[in-house]
Amino acid sequence: MSDVSKASGRCLCGAVTLTVTGNHNTVGVCHCAMCRRWGGGPNMAIEVGKDIEIAGRDHVVAYRSSDWAERAFCGKCGSHLYYRIVESDDHVVLAGLLDDQTGLTLASQIFIDEKPGFYDFANETKTMTGAEVFAMYVGSEGGQEP
Ligand SMILES: [Zn+2]
Ligand SMILES: [Zn+2]
Repeated sequence: MSDVSKASGRCLCGAVTLTVTGNHNTVGVCHCAMCRRWGGGPNMAIEVGKDIEIAGRDHVVAYRSSDWAERAFCGKCGSHLYYRIVESDDHVVLAGLLDDQTGLTLASQIFIDEKPGFYDFANETKTMTGAEVFAMYVGSEGGQEP
């Protein structure tokens, strides 16, 4: 395992590279309909807050998917990069971008009530319904999913 306190990653074409700083190695899955429509399947990502450095920002395109958040992708190759809560500037980075994924663990699954029936993850994780997620974020400064 490499130094998990600093993890590098990039999009498919390499126009956008990123570095996650700080110790962020737990992956969360989101089964919500928006994430599945965005990515073609459940979204697997890591909450990193502001611990992220992005190079190649000229190629980053952000789509404002809700009042509070945007979803960014590489304008050149289409790789999904991150979900960002606009007001707090908190980032949730897609796990698949990271060069070394050996230190990652799957910790949670949210919007489990929106998961379609055709797949199930065998990992034992914490699960939350969409209502439970919204209840957790209401009143906090962090904003809301999805
Ligand atoms: Zn790219
Ligand atoms: Zn989602």
